[in-house]
Amino acid sequence: MALRISNLSKTYSNGVKALQNLSLTIGNNMFGLLGPNGAGKSTLMRTIATLQEPDTGEIFLDDLNVLKEKDKVRALLGYLPQEFGVYPRMSASDMLHHLGVMKGITNAGERKEIVDALLQQTNLWDSRKKNLGTYSGGMKQRFGIAQALLANPKLIIVDEPTAGLDPAERNRFLNLLGSIGQNTVVILSTHIVGDVRELCPRMAVIAGGQVLLEGAPAETLETLHGRIFSKIVASQAEMTAVGEGHTVVSTQLTGGRHEVRIYSETDPGAEFVPVEQNLEDVYFLTIKQPKPSVAA
Ligand code: ADP
Ligand code: MG
Repeated sequence: MALRISNLSKTYSNGVKALQNLSLTIGNNMFGLLGPNGAGKSTLMRTIATLQEPDTGEIFLDDLNVLKEKDKVRALLGYLPQEFGVYPRMSASDMLHHLGVMKGITNAGERKEIVDALLQQTNLWDSRKKNLGTYSGGMKQRFGIAQALLANPKLIIVDEPTAGLDPAERNRFLNLLGSIGQNTVVILSTHIVGDVRELCPRMAVIAGGQVLLEGAPAETLETLHGRIFSKIVASQAEMTAVGEGHTVVSTQLTGGRHEVRIYSETDPGAEFVPVEQNLEDVYFLTIKQPKPSVAA
């Protein structure tokens, strides 16, 4: 299966251009949609999920016209929205049965098999009878995946599912996402570079409603080979001086010391040491620069 998005634009009534002539082709397997807050990720996800209309553009899932044949798309879709509300006084098991009926799984025996398997897969079996309101953030997100997987979707959209999870919960959640079948289109939106690094064979970086970079994470990394240098700076004045003479990729505190990473095509001098490039470097450089991106 392939999802083809062409020339999608959306301007909200307040004048914000959330999507600007955005085109993207997404095949089977996990696709990472990486971008900062306000990039347009949720707008794009909701549009693909047939919950809102773009101003212009087309989306096709193979031959299916997504914006026109909404009912057919909804039958194929599993969607975990960014703001995922649950009925706090219902158990996971009851809620999945309820949603299963709504999805057309009317045979009770068949439904029980599907629901039980999903509760096992998402590691919620032992908590299946507890009210959803008592669930931790990670459990709620795993429940969100369980409901998205009901009715065997061919297109799965998860919008910033790891935001707010603690490291152990996030790990468990990423492992679960990674185990979802290869024969589906899975779109994972996130502002966390590590989510993409760990899970996604392909990714796009979007900001300002535009695609700034698209490719395999490993390929995009290659473009920075030998071009990232690092230095520990002692003072704000030194930091400022680095910023004036170089393309700063990021600054971060490591063990109480400020590390500054720069991009340079030539050796920047004695005090900088060459370091291995990472996906954060790719991401920060990409969202810093106006089109075209570093890898273009
Ligand atoms: P992301 O999910 O990447 O954070 P969004 O798609 O939520 O991005 O938002 C993209 C831009 O559109 C932001 O500037 C946001 O404030 C704006 N926006 C989102 N939804 C609405 C809305 N319903 N009305 C007006 N502006 C909106
Ligand atoms: Mg969002």
